[in-house]
Amino acid sequence: MTFHVLTIFPEFFSGPFEHGVVAKAHEAGALEIKIHNLRDWTQDRHKTVDDRPFGGGEGMLLKPAPLFEAVESIWPDRKPGDSGRRVALLSAQGSRFDQAAAERLSASAELLLICGRYEGEDERVATHLADEELSIGDYVLSGGELAAAVVIDVIARRMPGVLGNEDSAVMESFSQGDRILDCPQYTRPADFRGLRVPEVLLGGNHEQIRRWRRQAALEKTGRLRPDLLTAVTEPRP
Ligand code: SAH
Repeated sequence: MTFHVLTIFPEFFSGPFEHGVVAKAHEAGALEIKIHNLRDWTQDRHKTVDDRPFGGGEGMLLKPAPLFEAVESIWPDRKPGDSGRRVALLSAQGSRFDQAAAERLSASAELLLICGRYEGEDERVATHLADEELSIGDYVLSGGELAAAVVIDVIARRMPGVLGNEDSAVMESFSQGDRILDCPQYTRPADFRGLRVPEVLLGGNHEQIRRWRRQAALEKTGRLRPDLLTAVTEPRP
């Protein structure tokens, strides 16, 4: 899968993708990340990307022209609604980016992420350039860059072969199936400062372990995220 990121801070991305899962996915050839500097599509000497909002108000907005021209030059033959090449605007006003959205977006061959800045961007970017607006949560970031890094990290983590074990991502929190939380996990020592690992996990009875994990996942979800349980239809074990 290929990610394009359109940003006024290309250097922001020199850190987040150089470690762990995203770096591994890149090395394995499972993903390509192309960072584009929005200022490359400006026409004036000062490489201006922003302007004042019509009607007055605080702050500046990203102008539409550099954003439209950037997308049109990255994909010159793209047709509107092209499902293989999606444009997503990172925006506090977007629909929530969650695990289900990550699964849906990973079906595209290419995904272009537009990072807003300042007070946001001209609304025509949302209505006539982006296929969708994505928000990573109900809070206001100072720019879309952190959000774009989150989106790429989550999608990369799901790619086959990236975690090493094909099953690692299957049982995780929010994943396909009923999207509840992952079960509690323990590693050695079995007794840490008197805190004992549940006995069932120390024996080799896989059926008992499976049932314990399912119950523990449901219990933890009920305690920390009861909102997720309303969607669970499967009977409790
Ligand atoms: N005035 C806007 C906020 C602009 S914040 C509003 O009130 O909705 C500047 C930029 O940060 C946005 O254009 C967007 O790209 C990014 N951003 C802010 N919060 C975000 C969030 N929760 N998810 C994704 N991107 C966000």
